[in-house]
This record gives sequence, C-alpha cells and structure tokens, in this order.
Amino acid sequence: MPKVTFIEERCKGCGLCVNVCPKHIIKMSEQNLNGKGYHPAEVTDMEQCIGCAFCATICPDCVIIVEK
Ligand code: SF4
Ligand code: SF4
Repeated sequence: MPKVTFIEERCKGCGLCVNVCPKHIIKMSEQNLNGKGYHPAEVTDMEQCIGCAFCATICPDCVIIVEK
C-alpha cells in the first residue's frame, strides 16, 4: 500500500490537494491546527490511496510525500 506523509507545519490550507485527489480521500483536519494557524490536510482512508502522487505534485509548499 502507498504511504502518504504530510509535513503539517508547512501546510497553508489551500485545499488544492483535496480537489485533485481522484479517490477523494484528502480533507482538511477539523481538530489539528499547525503553527501557522491553518487546519492541515490529511488522508482519511489510506487503504483507498492508489499512489498516484497527484496530491504531492500539485502542492505548492511541498507538504506531501508519497511513497509506493
Ligand atoms: S497519492 Fe493520489 S490517491 Fe493517494 S492521497 Fe494523493 S492524490 Fe489521493
Ligand atoms: S496543497 Fe499543500 S498547502 Fe495546500 S492544503 Fe494541500 S498540503 Fe496544504
């Protein structure tokens, strides 16, 4: 199964990764706040991830690391 890691402190909550994920498994965290005051993105159901890395490619702040 692919592994998706978020460097939460870099996230600015733009939501681009949420929109690009073909499996619709990324959302903005409701509980967590990072040091910049944003709700960072997170994966809701890792088992559905296909490792396409669209999320990592589109993120302007290099928050996301996808490992196959
Ligand atoms: S690698 Fe692809 S399927 Fe997995 S979370 Fe990122 S965009 Fe979604
Ligand atoms: S694209 Fe990057 S900066 Fe924007 S919400 Fe997703 S992880 Fe955060």
